[in-house]
Amino acid sequence: MHTIILKSGREKALLRRHPWIFSGAIAKVEGDPGIGETVAVLDSSGEFLARGAFSPESQIRVRVWTFDPDESVDDDFFRLRLKSALDKRKLSVFRDQSLSTDNRQLITCRLIHAESDGLPGLVVDSYVNTLVMQVLSAGVEHWREIIADLLLELTGADRIFERSDVDVRKLEGLPLRIGTVRGELEPERIQIEENGLKFWVDVSKGHKTGFYLDQRNNRARVQEMAAGRDILDCFSYSGGFALSALLGGAASATAVDSSSDALALAEENRILNDLPAEKIEWLEGDVFQVLRKFRDSRRDFDMIILDPPKFAPTSSQAQKAARGYKDINLLAFKLLRPGGILVTFSCSGGISAELFQKIVAGAALDAGVDAQIIEHLEQSPDHPVALNFPEGAYLKGLVIRVG
Ligand code: SAH
Repeated sequence: MHTIILKSGREKALLRRHPWIFSGAIAKVEGDPGIGETVAVLDSSGEFLARGAFSPESQIRVRVWTFDPDESVDDDFFRLRLKSALDKRKLSVFRDQSLSTDNRQLITCRLIHAESDGLPGLVVDSYVNTLVMQVLSAGVEHWREIIADLLLELTGADRIFERSDVDVRKLEGLPLRIGTVRGELEPERIQIEENGLKFWVDVSKGHKTGFYLDQRNNRARVQEMAAGRDILDCFSYSGGFALSALLGGAASATAVDSSSDALALAEENRILNDLPAEKIEWLEGDVFQVLRKFRDSRRDFDMIILDPPKFAPTSSQAQKAARGYKDINLLAFKLLRPGGILVTFSCSGGISAELFQKIVAGAALDAGVDAQIIEHLEQSPDHPVALNFPEGAYLKGLVIRVG
């Protein structure tokens, strides 16, 4: 067995059951663990702390599989962890009435949420009968074949597609990979349902695993608040918020995204739902510029949604990201009519909820508007946050009413 011995005093995070061990905490590596292989982790006096996956190239040198000295890391371990995560999804309360878990009809949701489900580096989203997996750590890469077999067996899914085309893999010394892992991928597009809407999901070419499932409940909230309003949906992707608003009775929706592919899919989603073309405008462009253009031409709205991509994946980019968030929020405040609503998000791991609120407060101040937070939003419950892993809470949202 390969063994990692920590420096004295560096066991504290592990005693709080945080699953990451940074390279700087390690005093000694005994044996010759390969990439992704299981190591035992001991404190400086030789006491057992955990078993985890070794990642020689990453700053996060070990990700913990188990804190239980009697639990070994083998096929059965993964069977139990995967099954437990799946069972929790069945017990979760979803807003979406179309979710069913009868034999062949899987639910559309995140099935495995990495560290928060005790499986560091593994993300699995399910779209009807297709699973899309992301392998984000050396440890999961090592067990990939077994995990794929178990997923198929435990879910009864028809196929598994892999979207490991994510930059964090480079930090683990792993190549990017996209492709079918099990079964055939036919048809290429999958139709899912959410909050009474249908959406096309392109799992091989779409963003992330194909759809931003984490915003499900927040799109439902926008649907509930949209009646009679003129909506601006910034960073719209395949039209999620804009179409939700229209279904909720919005007077009009304007949706902006820089990707023409995303907007083409959004228009197909409008057609799929038989929503009126004259009420929606798809605008290809840079949100930073479009908001300025609207400001200069005095266009205004009753509700604006800002759902930008990750400006700060880690805290080292926080400052530059903060400027980006402030800019778009400030402009949005200026475009809102009195009584209007701003629904603003950050999915940056490097920006805390507290910092995000401060940035938005600074934006309101500079825009010269009185504003109140009327609701805090977060990722949907199929993206849980393990209390021992606060980093899991990445999506922060505020619903703000201007005076
Ligand atoms: N709101 C969407 C998800 C948004 S993801 C939903 O509910 O599904 C972020 C989107 O921002 C992506 O579609 C990406 O193409 C777009 N994007 C990134 N930078 C942009 C920019 N500067 N201007 C406009 N769109 C941008």
